Amino acid sequence: MDPFYCWKCGKQLLDEPLPLARLAECPGCGSQLHVCRMCEFFDTGVADACKEPVADRVIDKERANFCGYLRVSSREWVAQDTSMADQAKKDLDALFGAQSNSEATPASAESAELDELNRLFGDGPREN
Ligand SMILES: [Zn+2]
Repeated sequence: MDPFYCWKCGKQLLDEPLPLARLAECPGCGSQLHVCRMCEFFDTGVADACKEPVADRVIDKERANFCGYLRVSSREWVAQDTSMADQAKKDLDALFGAQSNSEATPASAESAELDELNRLFGDGPREN
């Protein structure tokens, strides 16, 4: 049997008996495990985020449900989440890195622009 992972904290759940007890909880974070997010049929790309065609609709995807079709997925939630977070961090770094690397130039470019505007409108440099 493949290991599976807590949908919330990503802890690998080795000792969790399958099929999951309805009130099974993650030993790492205490999240309920009999939830849509743990399930193979969970897919945010389809209606009700469930690919199982006859399963009852479950409103809360993160609370223990009574679904008889739940099949624990072995997706690695944390790996997925981290890669997204890493990407977001990289984007942020790129954003702020670009700003701090060229700190000297934008300021002078900005004031040159201001001077040009002032010249155009004949206002002269304005002090605050
Ligand atoms: Zn957990």
